[in-house]
Amino acid sequence: MFHTSFRPIQSVGLRFFTTIKSSGGRLDGKVALITGGADGVGKESSLLFAKEGAKVLVVDLDSNKGNNVVSQIKSNGGQAYFFQADVSKAEQVKAMIEVAEKNYGKLNVLFNNAGIMISEDDDSVNTTEQVWEQTMNVNLKGVFLGCKFGVPALLRAGGGSIINTASFVALMGAATPQIAYTASKGGVLAMSRELAIIHARQNIRVNALCPGPLRTELLDKFLSTPEKRNRRLVHLPMGRFGLADEVAKGALFLASDDSSYVTASTFLVDGGLTAAYVTPI
Ligand code: NAD
Repeated sequence: MFHTSFRPIQSVGLRFFTTIKSSGGRLDGKVALITGGADGVGKESSLLFAKEGAKVLVVDLDSNKGNNVVSQIKSNGGQAYFFQADVSKAEQVKAMIEVAEKNYGKLNVLFNNAGIMISEDDDSVNTTEQVWEQTMNVNLKGVFLGCKFGVPALLRAGGGSIINTASFVALMGAATPQIAYTASKGGVLAMSRELAIIHARQNIRVNALCPGPLRTELLDKFLSTPEKRNRRLVHLPMGRFGLADEVAKGALFLASDDSSYVTASTFLVDGGLTAAYVTPI
């Protein structure tokens, strides 16, 4: 992807303009796989990564929405492919990595973003084993499986960047409980840190992306009333929920070589939430 830009050049007191042709995409030449790429943060990241020059494998359970994202990327001149997979199933995760390498020859960026929050998720007394297991299978085991099959692919490519989506709840307690979700995200954070250290000398960076509460379908379903929303909004320094594209921009930084010395980080995109005590009125 080439961008043409005009830059002023200062020369012996004269100022004139010249045309510079530069390869402008921050992910030019890279292949990126994004799980949960059909909606929310994953969708915005798929669109943004493709715009920045990456070939994108969009992975999701939802093939309609996933194929729509691919069509949108293609109509903007980008390259993308959809693959349907459930990240909690080992054979499907193995297949998604194989498809990325088969279609595009390599894998440089693995964004383990897919996650669920089940409405019945509550405190330890009221949360059922079924809710606990389903949440862990997708949010924690799904990220583990992504790394299990993705790390060898990144090594074959000479290294790369893994971004695992945790959450601000990996760092803060809330009296509005969702105990399985919180535990799963704490697990993602700890696992990502350890993976980063294991692979630090193999040119693989691993970072845990920790969004604050966002206006996506995942949270909209959970915060179905104004009371529920306001209960949270009062704690947000900026007085608003984040947007999926604001998190995608953080993911882009972690995916690109701009973050070449960033690994094992707890990468917050939370509008200041985790640093706040008393917020502005
Ligand atoms: P979303 O619900 O908008 O999108 C999630 C996507 O993941 C959907 O397209 C869904 O079909 C897909 N998905 C769900 N289960 C899957 C599975 N088993 N296999 C493959 N794909 C699956 O969610 P979002 O808000 O964009 O969240 C993205 C990530 O960010 C999640 O890991 C979530 O936990 C995390 N997060 C979200 C918030 C928030 O407030 N929305 C806050 C912090 C962290």
